[in-house]
Amino acid sequence: MRIGFVGLGNMGAPMARNLAIAGHSVTGFDPVAPVPDGISTASSGADAAEGADVVITMLPDGKTLRAVAREIIPAMKPDAIFLDCSTVEVDTARHVAETAQEAGLRALDAPVSGGVGGAEAGTLTFMVGGDPIAFQDAAPLFDIMGQKAVLCGEAGNGQAAKICNNMILGVTMIATCEAFALADKLGLDRQSMYDVVSTSSGYSWTMNAYCPAPGVGPSSPADNGYKPGFAAELMLKDLRLSQQAAEASDADTPMGRYARDLYAQFVDGEDGRGQDFSAMLPRFEKRSRS
Ligand code: NAD
Repeated sequence: MRIGFVGLGNMGAPMARNLAIAGHSVTGFDPVAPVPDGISTASSGADAAEGADVVITMLPDGKTLRAVAREIIPAMKPDAIFLDCSTVEVDTARHVAETAQEAGLRALDAPVSGGVGGAEAGTLTFMVGGDPIAFQDAAPLFDIMGQKAVLCGEAGNGQAAKICNNMILGVTMIATCEAFALADKLGLDRQSMYDVVSTSSGYSWTMNAYCPAPGVGPSSPADNGYKPGFAAELMLKDLRLSQQAAEASDADTPMGRYARDLYAQFVDGEDGRGQDFSAMLPRFEKRSRS
């Protein structure tokens, strides 16, 4: 396929590279990041989109996506697929899909889980909203960039799945970290805590696969000085998106709200920015109840 790729940052660059290695003709654009080897360089987003069968966007936020969509939709050929993999607001995803459809294009929102490691290894999970036929047509690309793609329903539902998943992730990471900090104060060693919880009813992905305690469980950012991984500010972004969606849909999400507030305090008011989101554990370690 001819693929236009717009946004070649930490995630976009390895995703684009994997598509090129698999034999697709990829043309990329990013105003800042370098274009990886094996990918033709476009002079703008519109230039990358022209003549492409699929245009993939991997951008920092919804505002950027709306601006890029305004630029590239008129340049795309009829019936081409606008495939956005960024994490953005559900209503932005729906707006972009509608605009693309009005212009005779097909649209999918397909945010990912798996981080930079998953992007490099081609093992991302895609949560997809939009046209089922477009989903089928894009399946060979999901297979290259990822290990699984789930069609979640109409436009915007991929983003809905992503923010619900990450709301659970933020809440469970906080719960795991505060439990470790409590265990410390009770004189329970961390290895015993891990051995019990990871095989008891408190188990979770944050305990079993991404343990926030250094030297305990499988290798994780905690073993690398809390270098991200998944940065605390990206978790905050996703928790803010989930609260925005909860407000818009009148959903009661008290734990999600509290997780957003704690990550906001950690990132904006303490030393969380630039650290992995599991660095909540050293944060709790230093604190007392008052
Ligand atoms: P990033 O900041 O490294 O990359 C974004 C890129 O977009 C940058 O290189 C930037 O220059 C480029 N960009 C900005 N404006 C542009 C424009 N007008 N035209 C073209 N390119 C433009 O971010 P990232 O870590 O690659 O994340 C991308 C998206 O994926 C975000 O929405 C993020 O929330 C989501 N995500 C990230 C991770 C992760 O672990 N990094 C995991 C899952 C999802």
